[in-house]
Amino acid sequence: HNHDYDSSCIFCRIAKGEIPSRKVYEDEEVFAFHDINPAAPVHFLMIPKKHIASMAHLSAEDSPLLGRMMALAPRLALEQGCNPYPDGGFRIVVNTGAEGGQEVHHLHLHVMGGARPWLKG
Ligand code: 5GP
Ligand code: ZN
Repeated sequence: HNHDYDSSCIFCRIAKGEIPSRKVYEDEEVFAFHDINPAAPVHFLMIPKKHIASMAHLSAEDSPLLGRMMALAPRLALEQGCNPYPDGGFRIVVNTGAEGGQEVHHLHLHVMGGARPWLKG
């Protein structure tokens, strides 16, 4: 699968360890690391190791992987200092495309939480 890795993609390179990051979690298919410019007290990114450009590029075969990432998020959020549900919790954001605010074109879940007032509304 040559197209699983894109040497011009910064998140592919982070997943491979070619660019340093503050790692939160890693397994065969998933990598998670702290956002370099956090927007919340806890703010990390979860990515598939294989290069998927965005949510608009998902295919049916990616469903188990994405399901695993979603199921893993609450555990990692607690490990990183988010308070437990229901008084704590976290927010997951997946920016998709230019109008969705996506700047890095390798699919990533923003996981954000921690004590308010970081989040309005
Ligand atoms: P997007 O706008 O694409 O959803 O978000 C990209 C996120 O990646 C931003 O929050 C940005 O701070 C983060 N980011 C961009 N480059 C790097 C990097 O080299 N290392 C880390 N850890 N985060 C990055
Ligand atoms: Zn990539």
